[in-house]
Amino acid sequence: MPKEYYVLSNGKLKSKKDNGDGTTTWHWQQKQLHVPYLMSVVAGEFEVLEQSWDGIPVLSYVPKGRLADAKRSFEKTPAMLKFFSRKIGVRYPWPKYAQICVDEYGWGGMEHTSATTLNIGTLHDERGHLDTSSDGLVAHELAHQWFGDLLTCKDWGELWLNESFATYFATLWREHDLGDDEDAWSRYGEAESYKKEDKRYRRSIVNYRYNAPGNMFDRHSYPKGARVLHMLRFVLGDELFWKSIHRYTTVNRFRTVETADLRRAIEDATGQGLNWFFDQWVHHGGHPDYEVDWAWDEETKNVRLTVRQTQKVDDVTPLFRMPVEIELAGPNETVIRRVTVSKAAETFHFALSQRPTRVCFDPRDWILKTLKASKSKEEWLDQIERSPHVICRVRAVKSLADFLAHEDARAALRRAAQYDAFWAVRMEAVKVLAKTSGKETRSTLLKAAAGDTKSMVRREAIKALGNFAHDEVRKLLRKTVSDDPSYYAAAEALRTLAKVDKQNCAVDLRAALNSPSHREVILSAACDELVKLRDGQAAAMLAELLKRPLTPQRRVVIVGTLGRLKPDDEQVLDQLEKLLDDDRRNVRRSVVGALAEIDNPRSRKLLQARRSKEEHPRAIHAIDEALKKLAGRRSDLSQLRKQLDELRKQNQQLQDRVKKLEKHGKK
Ligand SMILES: [Zn+2]
Repeated sequence: MPKEYYVLSNGKLKSKKDNGDGTTTWHWQQKQLHVPYLMSVVAGEFEVLEQSWDGIPVLSYVPKGRLADAKRSFEKTPAMLKFFSRKIGVRYPWPKYAQICVDEYGWGGMEHTSATTLNIGTLHDERGHLDTSSDGLVAHELAHQWFGDLLTCKDWGELWLNESFATYFATLWREHDLGDDEDAWSRYGEAESYKKEDKRYRRSIVNYRYNAPGNMFDRHSYPKGARVLHMLRFVLGDELFWKSIHRYTTVNRFRTVETADLRRAIEDATGQGLNWFFDQWVHHGGHPDYEVDWAWDEETKNVRLTVRQTQKVDDVTPLFRMPVEIELAGPNETVIRRVTVSKAAETFHFALSQRPTRVCFDPRDWILKTLKASKSKEEWLDQIERSPHVICRVRAVKSLADFLAHEDARAALRRAAQYDAFWAVRMEAVKVLAKTSGKETRSTLLKAAAGDTKSMVRREAIKALGNFAHDEVRKLLRKTVSDDPSYYAAAEALRTLAKVDKQNCAVDLRAALNSPSHREVILSAACDELVKLRDGQAAAMLAELLKRPLTPQRRVVIVGTLGRLKPDDEQVLDQLEKLLDDDRRNVRRSVVGALAEIDNPRSRKLLQARRSKEEHPRAIHAIDEALKKLAGRRSDLSQLRKQLDELRKQNQQLQDRVKKLEKHGKK
């Protein structure tokens, strides 16, 4: 390799020889067993952040000039090595742990043995850090060093043994590092993301009927499987869960594994047969859809709880058997009881000294499920104010959307939006409040937009203010654009400003064209709104900007905007043509996306010309999609022309008839 390059590969660096001709020969050696898809060689000009844990070097490589950003993303890596080693009970197994950030590497990373490769987006500046963190990704790839690398799934059909473990261990790190609330919220997000995919298709987690390995890398393998492991922890309890993980990892290290190996390891470690669990959660698909209802019997002092599983049971989806926690909360005491739910419909009785003010099914959200709980407004109000469980409060917030006609419900939501201890509850309350109007809502949203400590809440409040065209709102939005430390809040403020001050926002939008930001979110927001305004002055400014040296990402946004603003401008298309041959794939991809929006015969010609040269299969696919989109627009247009012709004909016929009738009338 050229002398100035650093070369990273798996295992240990055995030797490095200066060849005296401006090149160096590097010899890396991986002595321990691993599988071929984990081999990697990366070469380039890098700087390194050097850390260590218990004698193991922890090295993070970033492109030259980015060392200042390395700490933000990799500072916690040694603590993660320690945490995983301790929890699994198997020490980090490789001679070093290196992470290396490279361009053109999708969005995520790849767990090459002891030499993880990460996308450059893993790095961000201090302001970007307010809205993004790389800890989840870093923990995920590190967890793979055990689950994926030390133990590797035997077939892509067993992919969850890699990906669900890595996803779950990232959550475990979050729990350790940031606490239960953050963890509960992130697991809730995982469940929601899986449920979206489940609406499109349902499969068992272990699945040998895939058309291509790539199809297995879906939300069933990542978040759903992670939630299944979380339920396994619930069923076994912490102690036996970790005993099982230790056994599974120890027995199978340096081997390929299938799900039966995991089940057997658990059975050996705990003495518990778990076929019933694996059968429903891993070898079948879906999840329980619970409907829960309760009533108080004053005479017998009993809560009668009715649980129904309403999912359609078929070959793929079973009735589920699960232990479930029931929280019975009263003014004086709160108890949690555990029952086993296994039937389509069941009733449980709980004796209490007095009527509870709320009854929560699975309050800690252990179970992957949908839940319909029929409760009174009063119970939801109790839940939003008093539940110690984040997901219970989120459920209360969402359910109070059905009671927005009631002032007490709106007041509770306003309080939650401002004062709930956890930011995601405040954010969800803002979302529901956005459906209401009036001075009090406006005032709550303004407070959240200006003063919430969490940028995610400010962003949501700023978005909600789009329904409030008011001077105070416009003033706040302009202040946000200039002063908010979050790039994303500033970008959201620009979008909202375009809604509530259409007449005057162009000046603000044009001024934002010069602001750098994480993933160019500010520039993109300004450009989108300027396109909607068809702003000629912006087009001139952007054309001027293009003459300066720009980062590829910035160039792409600007050129794409020009394409939308001036689709028939030959100079703009010249620029796009040049960028279409850029050596960076993500630049080419963005240009293809921009051309797909420009309905001009030349844009199609450019795409076709690039298609014949393009080598990357995904890039070719993107060009085909763009051409299809343009063809679709064409056929939309010809459809419209046909309809217009038809209407003209009908109109002519009507006029003729009217003339005839008039003539007839005069006679
Ligand atoms: Zn992974």
